[in-house]
Amino acid sequence: MSDQSAGTNFIRQIIDADLASGKHTDIVTRFPPEPNGHLHIGHAKSIWLNFGIARDYGGRCTLRYDDTNPLKEDEEFVEAIERDVRWLGYDIDRVAHASDYFDQLYEFALELIRKGLAYVDSLPADRIREFRGTLTEPGRNSPDRDNSVEKNLAEFERMRAGEYADGERVLRARIDMASPNINMRDPVIYRIRHHNHQRTGDHWCIYPMYDFTHGLSDAIEGVTHSLCTLEFEDHRPLYDWFIDNLTVPSRPRQTEFSRLNLGFTVMSKRLLTRLVDDGVMDGWDDPRMPTIAGLRRRGFTPASVRNFIASVGITRKDNLIDMLALENAVREDLDPVAPRAMAVLRPLRVIIENYPEGETETLEVPNHPKNPDMGSRPVTLSREIYIEQDDFMLDPPEKFFRLGPGREVRLRNAFVIRCVGLELDESGKVDTIRCKYLPETRSGVQPEGRRVKGIIHWVNAGDAVDVEVRLYDRLFLEAVPLPDDEGRFSRDLNPDSLEVLGNCKLEASLALAASETRYQFERLGYFWQDRDSTRDAPIFNRIVTLRDSWAKIDSRNN
Ligand code: ATP
Ligand code: MG
Repeated sequence: MSDQSAGTNFIRQIIDADLASGKHTDIVTRFPPEPNGHLHIGHAKSIWLNFGIARDYGGRCTLRYDDTNPLKEDEEFVEAIERDVRWLGYDIDRVAHASDYFDQLYEFALELIRKGLAYVDSLPADRIREFRGTLTEPGRNSPDRDNSVEKNLAEFERMRAGEYADGERVLRARIDMASPNINMRDPVIYRIRHHNHQRTGDHWCIYPMYDFTHGLSDAIEGVTHSLCTLEFEDHRPLYDWFIDNLTVPSRPRQTEFSRLNLGFTVMSKRLLTRLVDDGVMDGWDDPRMPTIAGLRRRGFTPASVRNFIASVGITRKDNLIDMLALENAVREDLDPVAPRAMAVLRPLRVIIENYPEGETETLEVPNHPKNPDMGSRPVTLSREIYIEQDDFMLDPPEKFFRLGPGREVRLRNAFVIRCVGLELDESGKVDTIRCKYLPETRSGVQPEGRRVKGIIHWVNAGDAVDVEVRLYDRLFLEAVPLPDDEGRFSRDLNPDSLEVLGNCKLEASLALAASETRYQFERLGYFWQDRDSTRDAPIFNRIVTLRDSWAKIDSRNN
């Protein structure tokens, strides 16, 4: 795997110390997604950390689905999650589901009841909330808190047997209603849900809660280091309480790190689901989505995503990472390996008047300026070519080193041309420009007595390949977009996040472009074929521009 060195971080230091002291000999981690949506770049951080540690320490990382909520989860997501983890470059040697442990978790619940550490509560949900107290006030005990073990066992059995409706009873841990940590005020550990579960069907009508399930699943699996994001720090005392009070097969330790927050996008599954359901995005793999599927379709490489995460690092500090870092990671990954090609996105016709009609020459052009091992390809040139519209100006300023009336520019890999005339269409727009070429400037020689600074790319008209190109930009205009109460973005969406160009011209050698090759279109950026592409109607996605265009705008504004 071509990663930058994973380096060290405070979690790896904890592991090193645990190995040195003999506390552990094998390292076991897990990545625990809830199968209620697709993975995003934030999950990639957790995957990179957990799978990366397992790989580097010769340990194991389980992919464990946290499937304790039968209402929200879907098998469709399970397949997508596995594909995404593999795409990121990690082997999945063990897949588990929290639901695999429902029998054992039920036994753990019985053990707590028998120890007087859990009770069935008949308070309705709103009363439980009311009794919980606030940050400044302690909670109050439920009238059921001191029921006998026998009564609790019988009631829990009735819950399990389906004698109660949803919400009529819950099982609560009996901890401390006055704890300053609200998570410790007798949290609910089982609730009733008369709903089929995607894996256990109608076998259960009671389901364990996340906090109970999570740590105990870690203990069942022999996880040594349970790594989660900082919002679970306040849950750690509860995590430990379950481990301390139950007869568990192993004692995992939870350590928290900061979430990845990326500017100009959103990562909550709820908000991403909304964007897809409302049709704002063309599916979960819309190339503008921060999902792994979106990044993959856009053309990001797995190594670029891993290197990006490595560059962000693992700390306990919350910060907002700039999208630039991700874009730079893919540029760095592609620059040394992407074959170069010429493409014109917004074509302007050029007639080279003194080039013989009906004649074509073939130039042998290197595929990479710095890597001769990548070979070369034939590029045709004749009397009629296309250049970019914005490489020509009717009335250019002095410092514009491209074409204008009477001006000269070099065609990349070929000779210098001079603009000698124009043809306008009915609307007065420049339709064709007429040029003369300077035969003596072939092979890079400058014309007599002057230096032509500008070099522009071009495509031969006769055999150009017509393609659609999709240009992607940031999804949002604000670094931290604000949804409304329904989770919709009425203001902050970037209306120009997708621009479709229907009349682009590629050099003829790309007629046979391999669908998995990422190209650098000279002066334009990195591109590859979208999955909507067909042989007859090729479509290219812009993965990223060559340089950051936002930095320029930002610095101009400063
Ligand atoms: P969401 O709030 O969007 O639903 P989640 O955190 O609930 O996300 P899970 O499927 O429960 O999503 O997450 C699986 C794992 O990925 C968890 O360990 C979680 O901490 C981690 N994770 C999720 N988002 C991020 C993020 N932005 N940065 C780092 N880790 C993350
Ligand atoms: Mg979650």
